[in-house]
Amino acid sequence: MGADGQGMNRLQGKFALVTGGSRGIGRAVALRLAQEGARVAVNYRANAGAAEEVVAAITAGGGQGQAFAGDVSQPEAAKALVEGVAQEFGRLDILVNNAGMVRDGLLLTMDDAQWRQVLATNLDGVFYCCRTAARIMLRQRYGRIVNMSSVAGDTPNRGQVNYAASKGGINALTKALAQELASKNITVNAVAPGMIETEMSQEVRELAGPEILKHIALKRYGKPEDIAAAVAFLASPDADYITGQVLRVDGGLAG
Ligand code: NAD
Repeated sequence: MGADGQGMNRLQGKFALVTGGSRGIGRAVALRLAQEGARVAVNYRANAGAAEEVVAAITAGGGQGQAFAGDVSQPEAAKALVEGVAQEFGRLDILVNNAGMVRDGLLLTMDDAQWRQVLATNLDGVFYCCRTAARIMLRQRYGRIVNMSSVAGDTPNRGQVNYAASKGGINALTKALAQELASKNITVNAVAPGMIETEMSQEVRELAGPEILKHIALKRYGKPEDIAAAVAFLASPDADYITGQVLRVDGGLAG
């Protein structure tokens, strides 16, 4: 078994949706799930070209993927997205709620839009997608939901009350929903990445410089593929007895 999932067929015959799958961590997750045999719906909000590029990369690797538009922060759009994927695929086995955003700022200068937009995307979006997917998964009596949290959900930094609240909310939602859906063979877990090399964290990494690395035991930033490996594990039969967990993948980050 390679670190890139080569030689692993754990998700053969499964149908997956990855929200915000056109770049960063979502892109790596989509590629990894496809490598492991799943047919993958790559969701994007605005950048169809980037999503199509991910689909092309999946195809080039011998996998199957398809791009689906949809803004998960909008209830109707999120519902249409999940239903559209299930209709096209005939099933929905794996939902990865990855779409997310930051709009950092200190509390006293944080405006309503900054608060609402981050909560709407990061937390409301997870709720909307889970609600529609659960209906489908309950009928199937099978489902694997993996939510993208963050270490900020329980060890936040300054200037992130909106983001930290959204990710802490995801952790609580994950545990509550795991209890609700377990009897129907649906597991719900979260992955909490530390500092991962993507566009989202670029500014923070540039501002903080190499100082941050002192706080990371493994002395490197994470790669999107490090997160994708954890997601694939939680979506696979290897994790059939794991539910309601928040798995930190942070290289040993200390406050
Ligand atoms: P990114 O900005 O590169 O990717 C986020 C993706 O989500 C983008 O493709 C974006 O278009 C999509 N998206 C945003 N709003 C959306 C919406 N309303 N509907 C559909 N798609 C939407 O960031 P990333 O670093 O790849 O982050 C992915 C996830 O990982 C996020 O939930 C983020 O909070 C989480 N995370 C990232 C880090 C990190 O260090 N990069 C750390 C912890 C958690």
